[in-house]
Amino acid sequence: MRIKYAPLITLFVLLIVAFLPQASAQSGLLAGRTIVLDPGHGGEQAGACYFGVREADVNLAIGRELAARLTAAGANVVMTRTTDELVACAGTDPADELQARVDIAQAAGADIFVSLHANAHPAKPETAGVITFRAPGRSTALAAAIQEAVVEETGAVDKGVRTANFYVLRHSDRPAVLVEAGFLSNRVEAARLNTPAYQKEVASGIYKGIVRYFLALNP
Ligand SMILES: [Zn+2]
Repeated sequence: MRIKYAPLITLFVLLIVAFLPQASAQSGLLAGRTIVLDPGHGGEQAGACYFGVREADVNLAIGRELAARLTAAGANVVMTRTTDELVACAGTDPADELQARVDIAQAAGADIFVSLHANAHPAKPETAGVITFRAPGRSTALAAAIQEAVVEETGAVDKGVRTANFYVLRHSDRPAVLVEAGFLSNRVEAARLNTPAYQKEVASGIYKGIVRYFLALNP
């Protein structure tokens, strides 16, 4: 080995040593955790639909990206749907459809439940930004960690953590949040949400929020 390469090799080894513990700590953190991802809507229920962008498609794309990241980190990921179809039978009552999603989380023994949606405010089309919902009095830490990390990763408007009595949040007995990744009724945000690059940023933010949540539980 020529001596002139020694400093470079030393630097390379130092970089590996510096980053390895962080990487293994994070994957160790998620190993064995059961994380249920719930891409909202599907099939005949497109959810919000503006400027040719279907919410069901955006939700599923973000869900697939997030599932890949979590799985790579050792988590046991269960998705309520992986295709553009409803979870319950086609034509089912909306409440039964939502219960079918809750049932999947219960059967899986979810450590956390993350429902993925995109928002709409057609009366105020300038409205944009990310909101993470949780049920009143519950899932505070998970919602805060995800909201903060998604805003960091996407640079989107921070519309904060809010409480809501959404069916899937109310009926989950595990920490459960519903992430509204942006407003499809906003033309600019709809266009962004429709790109794989932005979907990856949202997924990366949710992923980081989940890691921080578990890190805070087991520092
Ligand atoms: Zn929705």
